[in-house]
Amino acid sequence: MKKLIVLAAASLALFAQAQTFPGTKPITIVVPFAAGGPTDRVARDLAEAMRKPLGNVSIVIENSAGAGGTIGATKVAKANPDGHTLLLHHIGMASSVALYRKLQYNTLTDFEYLGIINDVPMTLIGKPQLPANTYRDFENYIKANAGKLNIAHAGLGSATHLCGLMWQAAINSKEAMTTIPFGGTGPAMTSLIGGQVDVMCDQTTNTTGQIEAGRVKAFAVTTAKPLTNNKLLKDYPSLQEMGLKGFNLTIWHGLYAPKGTPPAVLAQLNAALKVALKDPEFLKKEEGLGAVVATDGRVDPAGHKAFVTAEIAKLKPVIEAAGKYAD
Ligand code: ASP
Repeated sequence: MKKLIVLAAASLALFAQAQTFPGTKPITIVVPFAAGGPTDRVARDLAEAMRKPLGNVSIVIENSAGAGGTIGATKVAKANPDGHTLLLHHIGMASSVALYRKLQYNTLTDFEYLGIINDVPMTLIGKPQLPANTYRDFENYIKANAGKLNIAHAGLGSATHLCGLMWQAAINSKEAMTTIPFGGTGPAMTSLIGGQVDVMCDQTTNTTGQIEAGRVKAFAVTTAKPLTNNKLLKDYPSLQEMGLKGFNLTIWHGLYAPKGTPPAVLAQLNAALKVALKDPEFLKKEEGLGAVVATDGRVDPAGHKAFVTAEIAKLKPVIEAAGKYAD
């Protein structure tokens, strides 16, 4: 009898939580990179689309940048699991497992997985002052200037870092370029445009506008094939086409809550995410930036977690192989 009463009380509490969440208390989405970059951009657009299905609650974006996204992820892993603190992270959630000797959290057991948001191709871009105009020109320029170039990234384990080290390993650049870390590719882009750094590999969500405005030079895309459906980028070759065997890198973003967030709250957040992923405004914005919004089984918590688990296994040998370019 006592057990029944306890059970009834527990389900009542769950019901009450679902009724009262989110209430009037704002939801904070932690972005583990600087403002003005691609992760920040996805988070701000997604927050707008998730507000409505969550009863117009305010959603605040908190940029907790540093250490390739692991500082923000640590913060959310240790946050109160009440559904009011979430993490929006990208492929760094998986690459950091191989790149960091000791993370302050367990990627697979310290989070509730809410769903994948999108897949985003990357572009290899250079400062506008570079004399090269095509990927081949750029390759020759690198050979002639071995050891003199700076490559920007958003910290160890970030997407730019991962792409940069895979690219340097693939072209077997004799002298690795000097890597310049930033808190995100928002500030890195400012330095690239200003000519303080030479090259960067970043997501189309951050580079599309700059390429279009002629503020940076684009050389290639990182997907296996060219982006033939993208009006702006359709004419750029893929790195694979340029002879970099098997080169294929796409960045994904996912949404997470701290472990122990009540199931009813998680269900509400996942439902709101699914509504947002079909929101016409959100879809239009993402399409304009070259991103593909997720529609497959990865939008469910189990599919999301299975995907990240597989990505960790896939990235580990890639990172180890490119390891000498890792700092
Ligand atoms: N694009 C960055 C990265 O390299 C992250 C960011 O600034 O949003 O991971």
